[in-house]
Amino acid sequence: MLLVEWQLRESRLECPSCSSPLAQWGHGRSRMIRGARGARLLLRPRRTRCSRCRITHVLLPAVVLPRRADASRRLHDRLCCLVHRSPVLPSQRCFP
Ligand SMILES: [Zn+2]
Repeated sequence: MLLVEWQLRESRLECPSCSSPLAQWGHGRSRMIRGARGARLLLRPRRTRCSRCRITHVLLPAVVLPRRADASRRLHDRLCCLVHRSPVLPSQRCFP
């Protein structure tokens, strides 16, 4: 079982608006995420609903940014290419 699923079942995740426990509420829209070096990941994020304010929230893994199709590592690599003016992925240079 994934950690986030366990945390939801144990009411250990809080609503960012009111701090009440979040509950499972289906899934968000499936989306294709582009990773570093051409990797692709089909992501089906968990949707939750607050027990108090009834607002729903989509939980994303830490490597995915809201409203972006690129994983955070891919965005980092592309920004490094711009900063260093290099067409080569500079991950090794940025993270020695
Ligand atoms: Zn709430």
